[in-house]
Amino acid sequence: MDALRHNVALIRRRIGPQTKLMAVVKADAYGHGLSQVAATLMQCDVDAFAVANLNEALELRRLGGRGWPVLLFGSALSFELPKLVEQDIAPTISTLEEATLVNAEAERQKKTVGVQVEVDTGMGRVGFWYEDAARQIGQLAALPHLRIDGMYTHFPSADVNVNETRQELAVFIRVAHELEAAGMKMPLLHAANSAALLNLSDTTLGMVRPGLLLYGLCPIGCVAPGFHPLLSFKARVAFVKTVEAGRTISYGQTFVAKQHMKIATVTAGYSDGFSRNLSNRAEVLIGGKRCRVVGRVTMDQIMVDASEAPEVHCGDEVVFIGRQTCPNGNKTEAEITAAEMAGWADTIAWEILCGITKTTRVPRVYSGANAA
Ligand SMILES: *Cc1c(COP(=O)(O)O)cnc(C)c1O
Repeated sequence: MDALRHNVALIRRRIGPQTKLMAVVKADAYGHGLSQVAATLMQCDVDAFAVANLNEALELRRLGGRGWPVLLFGSALSFELPKLVEQDIAPTISTLEEATLVNAEAERQKKTVGVQVEVDTGMGRVGFWYEDAARQIGQLAALPHLRIDGMYTHFPSADVNVNETRQELAVFIRVAHELEAAGMKMPLLHAANSAALLNLSDTTLGMVRPGLLLYGLCPIGCVAPGFHPLLSFKARVAFVKTVEAGRTISYGQTFVAKQHMKIATVTAGYSDGFSRNLSNRAEVLIGGKRCRVVGRVTMDQIMVDASEAPEVHCGDEVVFIGRQTCPNGNKTEAEITAAEMAGWADTIAWEILCGITKTTRVPRVYSGANAA
């Protein structure tokens, strides 16, 4: 939690005191646990929250009362509208039809509901296509129970293609100018995800929407000096054995020992979020040493070549993501990052983080000031 506060402070320093900071806490705060993360963020210098769907928004409302602006990145489905309007959660509006439905529900509840409109400048997911956006968004002004609190776009490749992103930004600003010329000045414009925040300061506008960076990770293609990863992902050694040349390890017998080796069986598998794609590829830390996963990852257990860590014992800590000190001698520290694990698993750090299993299977343990 101290790392989270530190990262928020670094982002705040980058954007200055005037720019709003919307903390993206979808997917259970990127696997870190929404309740603890949101509780901490509510005591930091953030202005708003964003989530993906209504259930996540309602969870935030339970945690933080009604005061916080909460934006849904997805469209609200029609059966969700009564609850959404009741709880003052802002949906993302991408069509006139959606807006009409929200307006009708707001009228039914005799209130005005704040919404945000999204302009699609290249993401191809939700939002009004930019060519016709100003005209269509202009029509929303006629809906008396809607209050348009902001307009945003989302960049598909701010991590790897800054020029493209610059053009998408220009297109977005043009839509805002067209609307302003038509007498509809947007109270708030925003665009920047973590990659844009790091790579293109022009995208800061009135508010930024970092997710990954809050959690201390940097998209590939960006540099984020000084940010601290929040999360470690750990298990324990449950069994140690020696095998001789010719022994096979795990399902499918994809690993055959070439010589005498020490093998540690570790208490986690793909049901914990240690992807099966990591079979025969990933490394883990034991005793401060990198040890390779051998054989297929199974549901509950993995096997690791512990020949590099000859002192290994049952009960020893195994680090999948995070740091571990080498106890003997010079106390050097080894580290595996979520990005490195993502490389082994052919995916991205985002999926690694939110793929760590929830609930009793992988308990979240918090530390730092005010950790519960
Ligand atoms: C997830 C998301 C973000 C945050 O993205 P990061 O790359 O994690 O910073 C911002 N905006 C939208 C619309 C998103 O869906």
